[in-house]
Amino acid sequence: MNYYILFGPPGAGKGTQAKLIVEKCNYLHISTGDLLRAEIKNGTQLGKTAAEIINRGDLVPDEIVQGMIRNKIVENQDAKGFLFDGFPRTIAQAQVLDGMLAQFGGKVDAVLSITLDDNLVFERIRHRAEIEGRKDDADPATIRNRIENYHSKTEPLVNYYKGKGNYCEIDGDRPIEEVFNSLIQFIK
Ligand code: AMP
Repeated sequence: MNYYILFGPPGAGKGTQAKLIVEKCNYLHISTGDLLRAEIKNGTQLGKTAAEIINRGDLVPDEIVQGMIRNKIVENQDAKGFLFDGFPRTIAQAQVLDGMLAQFGGKVDAVLSITLDDNLVFERIRHRAEIEGRKDDADPATIRNRIENYHSKTEPLVNYYKGKGNYCEIDGDRPIEEVFNSLIQFIK
């Protein structure tokens, strides 16, 4: 079983690239953001808790997303491989993921990190707000908080994975096709 992580700041193009990777490799795409938005849409209790946190640009508690990921892995043991998108986002989540994959006899094969400057992140999210209508994309203060959370809580994962030797960096400030061609080099 292969396990890949699509990593990067919000708006770096993880969702767009995930769709292209899945078309080519047929891995199961698991986006914690999409899973949380589905909970919100379905009006579940979890969705109600998450909506408030997401709309102010904070991270939902580790336990919530870890539970979602665990369920997906358990339910899909016949998958060809997994492509995690937007998970893990904290060191604690990464450690739990390592533990879960070890239980299944696996490990993270590669962390595909798409880099993008804060100014471009901001512009891209503002642009996406007009297309997708996400509430957390619409408010500049929320976008800034998401960028701040990325730097303080998520970016430390770069060194975590560099230490494991499976970290791959791709410049995200290029056309979609070019970013994809770079990414795919790192995927089996
Ligand atoms: P995304 O679609 O990946 O940009 O995620 C949208 C929002 O969902 C984030 O700003 C967080 O509030 C929440 N979220 C998604 N994935 C995670 C995660 N792994 N850990 C904590 N919060 C998450």
